[in-house]
Amino acid sequence: MNETLRIKRLCLIGVGLIGGSLLRALRRAGVVDEIVGCGRSRDSLEIALKLGVIDRIEQDPVQAVSGADMVVVAVPLGAMQSIFTAIAPVLAADAVLTDVGSAKASVVRAAEQAFADLPGGFVPGHPIAGTEKNGVEASFAELFDGRRVILTPTAQSSSTAVSRTRAMWQACGAEVIEMDITHHDEVLAATSHLPHMLAYSLVDMLARRDDSQEIFDYAAGGFRDFTRIASSDPTMWHDIALANQGALATLLEQFSLDLQKLAEVVREGDSDYLKTLFTRAKQARDEFCETQERGKPAP
Ligand code: NAP
Repeated sequence: MNETLRIKRLCLIGVGLIGGSLLRALRRAGVVDEIVGCGRSRDSLEIALKLGVIDRIEQDPVQAVSGADMVVVAVPLGAMQSIFTAIAPVLAADAVLTDVGSAKASVVRAAEQAFADLPGGFVPGHPIAGTEKNGVEASFAELFDGRRVILTPTAQSSSTAVSRTRAMWQACGAEVIEMDITHHDEVLAATSHLPHMLAYSLVDMLARRDDSQEIFDYAAGGFRDFTRIASSDPTMWHDIALANQGALATLLEQFSLDLQKLAEVVREGDSDYLKTLFTRAKQARDEFCETQERGKPAP
């Protein structure tokens, strides 16, 4: 039980994997009195209500944010601006407004278009946790346990709003850090957005071959591990690729140069180059995994 945070009415717009998991974690922490769920399809909101993830359905964003002291927007990036535009005229002056979008500069631009002045209560955020599944049925309370949440406050974000957003994610079991908006988008392009592009692109390249059936028939654990994230929601990743296009395109170009070099050395049979590359990469990945293991919460 978190003694310092009390949310009287939380309005969640977009009750899917991330939003639903946030709500389940907040319920587990016992810090929220009432949860209003808002979204696109009535059917998924009904499921959320049945699952006990939300207390009430309100499909109109204007009605949904009424009286809310915390508003969380957890829709795909391409839908952020229309949500901000709808709620801008009615958002309570002292309400905290945050989001969970995977790229941050585009969310801030969307808010700048929607609000005459960015509200002090607006604190952009991004939980570094997720799965390749989507929808509220896939949500679970433990998703953020021991995971990081990055807040990218704007120049206008008030310290009270930042503290409340931080406390909300801490109540979900997350470690909260703050980062500059541009830096966030560059770092996430490398650690998350690029790997998703590679997984999608590899599966698509193989699927388009005449012998794709045979290839998939003989694919085993390595292929499955490498391509798990290509099962992620296409709309979400379409929006992320466009929202972070500058940083992502730069990395994709750099990576294609490395791939071209790899093709050359394989063709030439450059054994030293290959051994050095694989050894360096294995060492870097082993260290990454060890650090992750050390950072895991005790069972
Ligand atoms: P999700 O499970 O598909 O949930 C998205 C929710 O938004 C659904 O409830 C959907 O409603 C609703 N929605 C879609 N368009 C809408 C619109 N125009 N108006 C109102 N509601 C709308 O996706 P998610 O994985 O939770 O992703 C949500 C956000 O989290 C995205 O911005 C993503 O970048 C971010 N994020 C995702 C991950 C991840 O690994 N999945 C990690 C970190 C951050 P319907 O039920 O009607 O479709």
